[in-house]
Amino acid sequence: MDRYSIIKEKNKREIVLLRGSGCKWRRCTFCDYHLDFSGDEAANFELNKTVLESVTGIYGRLEVINSGSFTDLDENTVALIRSLCVNKSIHTLFFECYYADRGRIPALRSYFAEDGIDVKIKTGVETFNADFRENVLNKGIAETDPEKIAAGFDQACLLFGLTGQTEESMRLDIETGLRYFQRICINIMTPNTTAIKPDDAVIRTFIENIYPEYKDNAKVDILLENTDFGVGGIKHE
Ligand code: SF4
Repeated sequence: MDRYSIIKEKNKREIVLLRGSGCKWRRCTFCDYHLDFSGDEAANFELNKTVLESVTGIYGRLEVINSGSFTDLDENTVALIRSLCVNKSIHTLFFECYYADRGRIPALRSYFAEDGIDVKIKTGVETFNADFRENVLNKGIAETDPEKIAAGFDQACLLFGLTGQTEESMRLDIETGLRYFQRICINIMTPNTTAIKPDDAVIRTFIENIYPEYKDNAKVDILLENTDFGVGGIKHE
C-alpha cells in the first residue's frame, strides 16, 4: 500500500498514511478502512518512521492520516512528526480526528505550537443531514447543529454517491461545510467490503451537475477515487 504522496494542486502538501492503534468507533456502516491498524505500538512506530523518511518538506505543509484519529497514533510517532517538522521547515500540519476525540485537539495544538507549527484538524461529518448521517451511516455524532459540530475543527470530510442523496442535498452539504469550516473534502463512495454500495445515478448527478462548479474551488478537495491523494487503497477518516 502506498503510504506517501505529494498533492500538487490546491492546498499543496505532502501526505502520509501512518498506522495507529485503530479507530475506536468502527461502526460507520460505509467504512472498512479502519482495518489498517495494529495494537503493536513498536511495530507501528517502525512502520511510521520508515514512511516519514520520505517527507522532504517541499511545501512546508504535511497531512498525516491514519485511518482513524490522531489520538490512535503512538507517542513516539507524534514526537517524530514534531522533530521532522522542525528539521524540514514544515509550518502547517493536518491531522484527522473522529468527532468523539475532539477533546484531545487543544493539547495537540499546544504541543506543536511550542515549535511554531500550526495544526489543522479534519473530521468526517459525511453529511449535515443528521437523520441520514445517524440512521443510515451510523456516524455517532449526536449533535445536529452544523456550527456546533464544526467547533474546534478546521476541515470537514463529506461522503457523496449514496442512495438517498440528491443534487439538492449534496449542494446543501457543500455550502454548509464551506460556511462553518475552512475547507471541505468530498469523498465519492467507492465499492468496499461493507453493505453500503455506491449509487451510480447519484454519482452521475454529482459529476455532471456539481463537480464542474467546485472542481477549481481552492477550498474544496474532491476525491472521485479514494486513492486520489496517492495514498491508501483504503479510505481514511
Ligand atoms: S469512518 Fe472514521 S470514525 Fe467511522 S468507522 Fe471509519 S475510521 Fe472510524
